[in-house]
Amino acid sequence: MSAPASDHIDRAALASLRFREDAAFKARTRKSQAWLARAGKSMPNGVPMAWMAGLFRHNSIVATGGAGPHFNDLDGNTYCDFNVCDLAMTMGYGAKPIAEAVSRAVTSGAHFLLPVEDAVFVTEELARRVGLPCWQFTLSASAANTEVMRIARFITRRNKILVFDGQYHGHIDESLVTPSASGTVPVQLGTSARIAQDSVIVPFNDLDAAEAALKANDIALVITEPALTNCLLVEPAPGYLAGLRALSQKYGALLCLDEAHTFQFAYGGLVGTGKLACDFVTLGKGLGTGISFALYGMSRDVADVMEKHLDIDIGPKGLATGGTTYGSNVAIAAARAALEHVLTPQGYDRITALGQRLADGLEAAFKRHGLPWRAFRHGPRSGYCLEPEFPTNAEAATRSIDTDFIDARRVFMANRGFWDAVASAGPQVSFAHQPADIDLYVTQADGFLGEVVR
Ligand code: PMP
Repeated sequence: MSAPASDHIDRAALASLRFREDAAFKARTRKSQAWLARAGKSMPNGVPMAWMAGLFRHNSIVATGGAGPHFNDLDGNTYCDFNVCDLAMTMGYGAKPIAEAVSRAVTSGAHFLLPVEDAVFVTEELARRVGLPCWQFTLSASAANTEVMRIARFITRRNKILVFDGQYHGHIDESLVTPSASGTVPVQLGTSARIAQDSVIVPFNDLDAAEAALKANDIALVITEPALTNCLLVEPAPGYLAGLRALSQKYGALLCLDEAHTFQFAYGGLVGTGKLACDFVTLGKGLGTGISFALYGMSRDVADVMEKHLDIDIGPKGLATGGTTYGSNVAIAAARAALEHVLTPQGYDRITALGQRLADGLEAAFKRHGLPWRAFRHGPRSGYCLEPEFPTNAEAATRSIDTDFIDARRVFMANRGFWDAVASAGPQVSFAHQPADIDLYVTQADGFLGEVVR
C-alpha cells in the first residue's frame, strides 16, 4: 500500500505523536512484550499465525480473554474492539448463544464426518435469506473461493478468473495477484507466477473494462465483493453489479459474489437485500462467531453438476471439493445459533443504527476540525475517507489508506482502550457494542485528530 498525503495532516505532529504513543504502548504492554520475546523461539515472529504480527506496525499484545465488545491483554489492559478480528468476531467475545451451542456440540461430538440434523436448518435459512438454494461448508472463505473456482472451471471448461483491482478473496494463488506491465503477477512471496497469469484484473465499477476482458471467452469465473471492503470501502455504482451479471452471462462465465465481509452489513447480505443475481455466494469468517468455518451458496444448476460429479473415494473421481473437518457439528451449531439468535433482523437494525452513529460522529469530528473528509458508512461499517468524495475504485480508495495516519491512530487509540481497525478496513460495529462504546470511540478519535490535523 502506498502512503498518500492528505494536505490536512501535519506530518511532523503525526511523527511526534507516534513516537510518544509507541513509547507509552510499550510501557503498558511489558508482559506481552516479554512473552513475545520468549514466543519468538518457538514461533516465527512470536505468533501462531504470521498475519497476527504483520497486520499492524506496533508490537503485538497477548490476549487473555474478553467479554462482549471488550478483550483484555496480559498486562491487564482492556480494549473496546473496533477491528473485531477483521469481521471474524462480530458477535462479540463469549456471545452466549454461540458459546452454549458450540459447547453443546463439542460435548456431544465435535464432528462425525456425517451430516447432523441442523445442517438442513442452516442451509434452508441461508437459501431463504440470500436467494441461492444450495450450500456447502468449508473451513475458511479462502477454501470456499477455491472450491468455487474449481467448480466454475469444470462447468465452463475454461481456466481464467476475472478479479477486480482492490480485491481480496483469500489465501489463494489466483487472488494474491496484482497487475503489472508484463501481465498479472503474484503480490506475495511463495505463490505461483504461472497461476497468477490465470487471473485477469480490471478496475471495479468499469463495465467496459470487464467486457473487454470477458470478450476473450476464456474467463471461467468473475469474482467480486458486492462492495469492496478490503481497500476501505468502494460501493458499486447503481446498476454495476447487474451489468456484471449480464456480461458474465453473455460471455459464458459464472459469477461469484464474495460476502465474507458484507454478509454482516445487512440481513441476508447485500445479495439478499439487493436481490442480486449470481451463480455463487461466499460467506466466511464463521459468520462472525469466531468459529472456523465458511460456506458457499450455489444455483440449482451448479448443484446438479456437483451431484453428477461426486468424488468417490474408490473412484470414479469427481469434483475436488471438501476437507476432513468441513461441515462439522461445531460449525453447524455455531451457524444455527448465529442465524437464530444474533443475525436477526432486529440485530442488523441495531448495528446499522450504531454504524450510523459512528459515521455521524466521525463526520461531525471532521467538520469540527475543518476537514473536508467523509466517513464511510455501510450498515455497521465506517471509516476515514480522507477526501471530499467517496472512492469509486481501488485506485481512488488507496488515497485514503494513509498508513502513517492509520498506524499512529491505531496506537493512540490502543493507549486509550480502543482496538482500531487494520489499515485496509475501517472501524466496525459489532453486535455486542453499546451506544456509549461508539460515543467514546468518537471522542478519542476527535482527540487524535486535534493533535495531527491542520
Ligand atoms: N473473501 C473476502 C472478501 C475476505 O475479506 C477474506 C478475508 N479478509 C477472505 C475471502 C478470506 O477469508 P479467510 O482468510 O477467512 O479464508
